[in-house]
Parts: sequence; C-alpha cells; structure tokens
Amino acid sequence: LISLGQGYDFFYFVQQWPGSYCDTKRSCCYPTAGKPAANFTIHGLWPNYNNATYPSNCNKNSPYDGTKVNDNQSTTLIKMDRTIVVVSDLFSRLEVSWATLACPTNNGTKFWSHEWEKHGTCSESVLDQHSYFEATLNIKDKVNLLHILEAAGIRPDDNFYKVEDIKEAIKAGTGYDAAVECNSDPSRNGQLFQVYLCVDASAKDLIECPVLPKRKCKSSIQFPIF
Ligand code: 5GP
Ligand code: 5GP
Ligand code: 5GP
Repeated sequence: LISLGQGYDFFYFVQQWPGSYCDTKRSCCYPTAGKPAANFTIHGLWPNYNNATYPSNCNKNSPYDGTKVNDNQSTTLIKMDRTIVVVSDLFSRLEVSWATLACPTNNGTKFWSHEWEKHGTCSESVLDQHSYFEATLNIKDKVNLLHILEAAGIRPDDNFYKVEDIKEAIKAGTGYDAAVECNSDPSRNGQLFQVYLCVDASAKDLIECPVLPKRKCKSSIQFPIF
C-alpha cells in the first residue's frame, strides 16, 4: 500500500477585500496589469483537516510552472475582424480574480507560486496545477460575494457594518456559514479583510465548514472603499 501524501479533508476558499489589504500601515502595490477592479479577489484554496490543522509545502519536487498552469491546449482563439485574438487560458482569469497586491509590483507569479507550493501541492493527488487554479477560479465565478453583500445593503462605502449582519448575508446568499477575518487601518478601525468558505475535497462545491477558522473581529467593522 502506497500512501500518496498526507491527504486532506476539505478546502478553505479564502477571498480578500483589496481595499482592506491596501488600507493598512504597510500599504500595497498594484500588479503590473493595473489597479484591480473593486471586487473581492482570491487569496487561496487551502487544503485542511477536519481537526483544524492543515498540511503545507507537500512536494518540493513540484515547483510552480506557468506553462502547466496556462495549458496551451485550452487556449481560445477569437476572430475579430481580420485579427485573431489569443485568449490565453488561465492567466487572464488569474490576473482579474487572483490579483496580487504585495509590493513590489509584479505580475502575480510570486503570489500564485507561493499558493501552489504551500497549499496546492497538498491536494496534488486530486488536482494538478492546471486543475487547481482552474477549479479555484471556477468557484470564485460561482460565488459572487460582493453581489451577495450588496443585495443585503452591505457596500464598500467606508461605512461600518455588524459582523453578524455580514455573516447572515453570506449565509442567505450562499447557503453556508462563513468565517470573517479583520485587519486594521492606520486609525485602528477594524475592517473586513478576508472571507472563508469551505469547499469539498474535489474542489467542486461549497460545503458547510467541518470546522470554522477562528478569526477575531470587532462587532462592527468598516467596509472600505477601494
Ligand atoms: P495568518 O497567520 O496570516 O493567519 O496565516 C498565514 C498563512 O497561513 C495563510 O496565508 C495561509 O497560507 C496559512 N493558513 C492560516 N490559517 C490557515 C488555516 O486555517 N488553514 C490552512 N490550510 N492554512 C492556513
Ligand atoms: P499565505 O501563506 O498567507 O497563503 O500567503 C500569503 C503570501 O502571499 C504572503 O507571503 C504574501 O506576501 C503573498 N501575497 C502576495 N500577494 C498577496 C495578496 O494580494 N494578498 C495576500 N494576502 N498575500 C499576498
Ligand atoms: P507574507 O508572509 O505572507 O509575506 O505576509 C505576512 C502578512 O503580511 C500577511 O498577512 C500578508 O497578507 C501581509 N502582507 C504581505 N505583504 C504585504 C504588503 O505588501 N502589504 C500589506 N498591506 N500586507 C502585506
């Protein structure tokens, strides 16, 4: 019997609010592609165990490889007038939905490789590099978090909202409980930073979290403009 890695039970699908990443003492840098849209972006898809621990950096022999991520087999050719536009498979989607805000400005490769090597390698028995990034982007496209919050009157307008109302809106919109993580702006206001939802081990569907990560927020938090 050969054990393929250490396995995992489910994923955390973690999204970040760019306004809250940038609105800190450390500030941020926009990626090479420019300022991301005012929308939640992906932080990562993290394999996790039901007992709240998690594996990391599972395969040193599987470095991030952009040519694997951007599987040319799936490249789409669109004919516009007499020009053929090459829509490279995943990179254009990653730039929009998995934008990096770390400094110094870069094209995102650093963030994606960090996420693949730390987390993605731990679900490699189920999802290869291409599938890992594609599955994460597909989940992001299915869960329109900003739309869900706005439908409940919770908007990125610098106003303060009750964390309980934010969680209730996400539950109403997705059907599932989420965890909310906060950070602080330079005036020490707590703000909506990251939202954790859970995804089944095949990375297809949201599930109720077997264990919610413990993250602390003040009871009322700011949702900053981006
Ligand atoms: P922080 O210390 O900022 O909460 O987390 C640092 C990093 O540890 C995260 O970006 C992520 O890579 C990893 N991490 C933190 N908490 C969890 C968790 O509950 N599950 C998993 N799988 N990774 C986590
Ligand atoms: P974690 O270990 O927490 O999954 O990954 C966070 C790492 O990715 C950090 O090293 C951080 O500097 C880098 N990183 C690059 N871009 C971003 C970004 O836009 N947001 C976050 N949270 N981390 C980023
Ligand atoms: P990492 O080890 O993951 O580089 O970053 C550690 C922590 O600092 C993470 O919570 C990450 O989100 C945050 N961080 C990393 N780089 C930056 C940055 O350029 N700006 C801001 N605001 N936070 C950052």
